[in-house]
Amino acid sequence: MSFPESIRSIYQAQLAEIHHAGIFKEERFIHSAQSADIEVEFPSGSDLKKVINMCANNYLGLSSHPEVIKAAHEGLESRGYGMSSVRFICGTQDIHRELENRVTEFLGTEDTILFPSCMDANAGVFEAILTSEDIMISDRLVHASIIDGMRLCSAQHDTFKHSSMEHLEEKLQLHADKRLKLVITDGVFSMDGDTAMLDKMVDLCEKYGAMLLVDDSHATGFIGRTGRGTHEYCGVYGKIDIITTTFGKALGGASGGCVSGRKEIVEMCRQKARPYLFSNTIAPVIVSGVLKVFDILSGSTERRDKLEKNAAYWRKGLTEAGFILKEGNTPIVPVMLFNAKLSQDFSKDLYREGIYAIGFFFPVVPNGQARIRTQISAGHEIHHLDRALEAFIRVGKKYGILGLTKDQIVEKYGL
Ligand SMILES: *Cc1c(COP(=O)(O)O)cnc(C)c1O
Repeated sequence: MSFPESIRSIYQAQLAEIHHAGIFKEERFIHSAQSADIEVEFPSGSDLKKVINMCANNYLGLSSHPEVIKAAHEGLESRGYGMSSVRFICGTQDIHRELENRVTEFLGTEDTILFPSCMDANAGVFEAILTSEDIMISDRLVHASIIDGMRLCSAQHDTFKHSSMEHLEEKLQLHADKRLKLVITDGVFSMDGDTAMLDKMVDLCEKYGAMLLVDDSHATGFIGRTGRGTHEYCGVYGKIDIITTTFGKALGGASGGCVSGRKEIVEMCRQKARPYLFSNTIAPVIVSGVLKVFDILSGSTERRDKLEKNAAYWRKGLTEAGFILKEGNTPIVPVMLFNAKLSQDFSKDLYREGIYAIGFFFPVVPNGQARIRTQISAGHEIHHLDRALEAFIRVGKKYGILGLTKDQIVEKYGL
């Protein structure tokens, strides 16, 4: 098989363009289990460095929890390694049903269907339940997987300005004639760490006879008083028509996702959602691990309580040090630097200081909104946060940005 130079050069040019734009993504190899303390090889080929992890979605610190690992081992022994089949042929075990029931109970819905990932849940759900007579009205900042899922669906599509309830209401009025109206939002938005106004959205949906879908991937397990998610936080537990979420973040972090909600909708997904029909579901070993995660969460709110305390401590420390944060009430704490290059330099200096936190800039966040996104975990102890804070302050001093306003930082570094 040859790969002619004429083809190769097309890709080489595209990759060079990505490099040139400064948005080439490089992996950092972790040589240890996922945790607050990790050993990293970066750049590739360099010596291993012990760092404090400030950017995993390991919100509850369960990714390497001994009880979860033990349950996964037991699942491996009792239910084997793989299913070698999709669900509806011969790929469904009793523990898949058990997990679906646990999720239903936890989220306060009517029924649940597992998917290989939340990306797949979002890829499957819209097409399974809507037709070209229907309308999807989504927040402008929803996750990429929702955008892809909506593209795969023949329903019409419109958007509303991020978290603008006035704009959403206008759009609901505009589309009053459609057969079904589905309003779509993330529960917690991953880049800013802000929460959707689900209470107001539920009211609007009731007023205009629309359904509401919430992707709660950055909330399930820890947002709300008992960690049920953004619907609990907003006082609308039991009122969301469709929740999609992931097991790949707070809930052990391995992989898998689901659609949970009204039972007819879940049944439609079982009949029609293509990632469910044509791809293997979550492996038994992971199902067993996630079941243990739900045991841990149902027994006590200790982990989400600790996470909440840690996040408040971290926010307070950074604010008092003179950093500009995105306001919020979640463990996603963005430290605003505005300038793209500054965000990259800052991240590299933090790494030298033993702190692993990634800088984000356009197109991942809007132009001129570059930042270090930190994510707090119940796996962090106060000594981790104190050390990270010291490092942030040292690097902040180096760049002379502590106590500056946005305008002053922009004046110094540009946008
Ligand atoms: C992470 C994430 C997903 C994807 O989850 P996977 O299970 O890893 O595919 C989907 N939606 C949102 C909002 C996310 O943050």
